[in-house]
Amino acid sequence: MNIHEHQAKALLKEYGAPVAAGVAIFSVDEAEAAARSLPGPLYVVKSQIHAGGRGKGKFKELGPDAKGGVRLAKSIEEVVAHAKEMLGNTLVTAQTGEAGKQVNRLYVEDGADIARELYCSLLVDRSVGQVAFVVSTEGGMDIEAVAHDTPEKIVTVAINPEAGVTDADVAKIVAALKLDGVAAEDAKSLFPILYKAFSDTDMALLEVNPLIVMENGHLRVLDAKVSFDGNALFRHDNIKALRDESEEDSKEIEASKWDLAYVALDGNIGCMVNGAGLAMATMDIIKLYGKEPANFCDVGGGAGKDKVAAAFKIITADPKVEGILVNIFGGIMKCDVIAEGVVAAVQEVGLKVPLVVRLEGTNVELGKKILNESGLAITAADDLDDAAKKIVAAING
Ligand code: ADP
Ligand code: MG
Repeated sequence: MNIHEHQAKALLKEYGAPVAAGVAIFSVDEAEAAARSLPGPLYVVKSQIHAGGRGKGKFKELGPDAKGGVRLAKSIEEVVAHAKEMLGNTLVTAQTGEAGKQVNRLYVEDGADIARELYCSLLVDRSVGQVAFVVSTEGGMDIEAVAHDTPEKIVTVAINPEAGVTDADVAKIVAALKLDGVAAEDAKSLFPILYKAFSDTDMALLEVNPLIVMENGHLRVLDAKVSFDGNALFRHDNIKALRDESEEDSKEIEASKWDLAYVALDGNIGCMVNGAGLAMATMDIIKLYGKEPANFCDVGGGAGKDKVAAAFKIITADPKVEGILVNIFGGIMKCDVIAEGVVAAVQEVGLKVPLVVRLEGTNVELGKKILNESGLAITAADDLDDAAKKIVAAING
């Protein structure tokens, strides 16, 4: 689950990280008061969307010459003018895709005098099985380009979970970022704070780009992008409350209510599968036969009829879906439960596209019987290969 920059900064501030004063606003009316509460004379008006690259982004409605999604302002009037121009418009960045994202809230922040822009992120480094800092002196711009062109400028420091961030770890990061004086002093508290925030709240990613050295020598978190491990959200009610559903795919929101492992994709074959491995294999074989999956969907082992029906409805509600492939290996999951769920969902929402079902395993005969007797136009398949061929053929008509 992702959150907005202003929420991430509020969270990091609770842990003691240095962030600027700022106010989130949802309407132009709130802009003036927000700016007045800040020290000035420099302000920054920042679009709050769940995507990076906002500074270089463009508003669809404003044309190519208008300013981007992060704007400096030198007066309160200018803050208000920016807010008027930005709120409600659609920001397109390198990360939003062509459709862009509507800006429904802004963060009005105290402007910083920047001496250097650095990069710092924390992530779970699976190669060492530890949380690691990834830092670079080349912050503020496209870190992917730095990784590609000058990988030696990116330094990874993995943290031993038992020891936490040691003085030696901080020293490595300080050296990699070429910090000295007050900034090196600030580093001693900042990096352990970031690590604690990351582990306490089960983050999957914490990206501070840029982390800045200010003209006065101090460090400041200038941008913050945070995503949390969805599987750990059940133990963080305060973080769940930060969710902004307007930023998410409506199908994925519905799926998460049913605890379905569902990811919307760009293709046009809807898939309903049990087990992540089988779901991946199903997606692979669809591609092998020349089509693209519309989603990843793992209904899991213990799904009941209602959950199966919910998954099927989410898949059929996607206008891109031209055909559906149900691929179930009944181990813990019983084939008759799947069949009942599919039939219940189709009775409720109808079936406008071809449906191929491959069932195997526990109660397979009963499952097939339920489907056969339902009177629905279902194409049965014997195995995975047969199923993929049949759904691709059905779509190609
Ligand atoms: P994004 O990464 O989405 O483009 P950032 O928050 O990193 O958004 O902002 C882009 C750039 O805007 C930063 O690299 C920095 O140069 C400038 N900037 C952002 N916030 C401030 C601020 N509070 N004071 C001064 N400059 C800022
Ligand atoms: Mg940034």
